[in-house]
Amino acid sequence: MSDTQWPHFTAAELTCRCGCGRLEMDGRFMALLEDLRVAFGKPLPVTSGYRCSEHNAAISITGPNGPHTSGAAVDVAVSGEDAYDLVALAKAAGMSGVGIKQHGPHHTRFIHLDTLPRAAGQPRPTIWSYK
Ligand SMILES: [Zn+2]
Repeated sequence: MSDTQWPHFTAAELTCRCGCGRLEMDGRFMALLEDLRVAFGKPLPVTSGYRCSEHNAAISITGPNGPHTSGAAVDVAVSGEDAYDLVALAKAAGMSGVGIKQHGPHHTRFIHLDTLPRAAGQPRPTIWSYK
């Protein structure tokens, strides 16, 4: 059962992993993510949700202002056919950014989803892959 206002997502999976305890997800993004979860019809285990600036700068090349610091981004642990299905649904669900990490052991694979706006030099919607 969920302990947040979002039926399919828990505080533990959405809270910043640095220990700061912050959970500042964007409400519009989470509404879209809930709709996507229902359309997908299977669990979307969040491996990274909200990140404070300090934590994001420590673990991501996107620095102190990366997508996860906006609260409008998650990484979900899906691979194989599920990953293919999720990507097929993401754009229609309103996600503007999809990042793909689908190499290596399946338990390390994920799909990044976000609703960041178009910005200078950063067209949206877009899709990218991780090394
Ligand atoms: Zn933190």
